[in-house]
Amino acid sequence: MKKIADLLKKVVGENNVVTAKVDRVAYARDLTPYYSPPDLIVFPESRDHVIEILKLASKERIPITPRGGGASFQGSSLPVRGGIILDLSRMNKILEISKEDMIAIVQPGVRYETFEHELNKHGLTFPHDVGSHDAATIGGILASDSNGHHAYKHGRVSPWVQGMEVVLVDGSTLKLGSRAPRYNIGYNLSALISGSIGTLGVITEAILRLIPKMDYDATIGAFFQNLDDLMKASHAITMSGVDCGTLEATDGYTVNTISDVMNLGFPRCEGNFVGDVQAFSEEELQLKLAVIKKILEEHNGENVIIARDDETTKILWAPRMEIDIAIMKVHPGYREIGFAAADPCVPLSKMADAMREIGRIIRSNGILAAVFCHTGIGIIHPAVLFNPTNREHWIGVKKAEKEILEYVESIGGVITAEHGLGYVKNIYVEHAVGQLKLKLDREIKRVFDPDNILNPGKMGLDTTERDTDVQFMYDEYVTDSELWGVEK
Ligand SMILES: Cc1cc2nc3c(=O)[nH]c(=O)nc-3n(C[C@H](O)[C@H](O)[C@H](O)COP(=O)(O)OP(=O)(O)OC[C@H]3O[C@@H](n4cnc5c(N)ncnc54)[C@H](O)[C@@H]3O)c2cc1C
Repeated sequence: MKKIADLLKKVVGENNVVTAKVDRVAYARDLTPYYSPPDLIVFPESRDHVIEILKLASKERIPITPRGGGASFQGSSLPVRGGIILDLSRMNKILEISKEDMIAIVQPGVRYETFEHELNKHGLTFPHDVGSHDAATIGGILASDSNGHHAYKHGRVSPWVQGMEVVLVDGSTLKLGSRAPRYNIGYNLSALISGSIGTLGVITEAILRLIPKMDYDATIGAFFQNLDDLMKASHAITMSGVDCGTLEATDGYTVNTISDVMNLGFPRCEGNFVGDVQAFSEEELQLKLAVIKKILEEHNGENVIIARDDETTKILWAPRMEIDIAIMKVHPGYREIGFAAADPCVPLSKMADAMREIGRIIRSNGILAAVFCHTGIGIIHPAVLFNPTNREHWIGVKKAEKEILEYVESIGGVITAEHGLGYVKNIYVEHAVGQLKLKLDREIKRVFDPDNILNPGKMGLDTTERDTDVQFMYDEYVTDSELWGVEK
């Protein structure tokens, strides 16, 4: 690797190549319980740097994994086969914001929060605020086809990509789209590359569609004795035509625990609802809030709260945002650790049953569950809470994972709808998508990257097995084979 590091330094400069163990360890993790260090990290500062780096990696057949903020939940940016980490955080310029064309042209390493802050100064917004907005980069958000906080209203990010510049593994540059708002020319490669988590090419620039920012907003919440009523209320809000930004629910265990730990005085419930609403004027906002409040009350929603200030808004969101801190107080040693069943999606009509059943499955395996969902788009996030130094808990997590995925499929749902397959779901891919889809995906990968250089070991593209070279972080408490034996 020393030879490669020296060659890379000639391309990007001494300060943009890092090989020290301490740095490699830092890049060996994401939010999953796995550890896999790269051999070196390189920081390109331009498209030309990316081109030369990819040419070298191809020539030497070295795996190369792009990385933005490293905030992936699914092991997407883990270098599971070692090799090079291509850290794009130094390509972080906002090249243009055009109010006339309603677009921004950005480099991939721009952080979402920085980007949005700049846009707001122009009265514009790019409404794809992922929960990791302070860490996530535009490149990571596009490559993951992320589903932000306001996905109910604005959908996934890929339709918002008007144009893209992508460096392919042989160093050639693919330009897709333009400043013009629409194009329909052949296969939609921009949509294919969005969500390909760096397995097909490296995004070096993007032209993003913008909309005007609405300056009036509020958060509205209510508590329900019955999740069926909550889901019916959410559906009625959708049918009313009031365009909420988000429609969310959290299960009763979580709401009640948070209320007790934080002394919030929430009524005991089977779940709470939180929605947020934006408008161009105070009159429009009040009109929308009145419609939503009426619907919540008609469906037996209790203690309807409308938040217009940060403090009340935080209280309404507390069950969602504070559960991992609260659980540590109630059960010392417990933590929330990402797992494969983290973002299934079910038909809207099955949401209430699915929230209950998923919580039941987790608890029946001897661990705790905080179940959240985006009620308007069917995505459920079951957070598992347990003591990672407890062997039985880990076995419970793995059993729950498998049971949840089987249950979700049995009611017409899918195993992942937000975070993608990444590394952690390799073992479930073939079952979930079927042999034909997996074969086509693998053929697409071969067209773009015949030698499997770009982000190998992901999305089931080269293996549907657990990668034995990747270290499980808790193997002193439970061995790999015990855990993965559960899966087979
Ligand atoms: C607290 C928290 C909340 C989250 N909330 C959400 C949420 O609301 N919605 C959601 O969808 N996800 C969410 N996530 C998951 C994750 O943060 C997002 O998917 C985010 O988009 C990842 O951005 P990143 O820059 O950290 O990407 P990384 O993790 O660095 O990379 C993600 C993938 O993209 C590839 N990649 C990165 N940059 C490029 C590039 N320029 N070209 C090609 N490939 C590239 C990487 O190789 C990797 O496979 C959350 C994560 C956390 C920790």
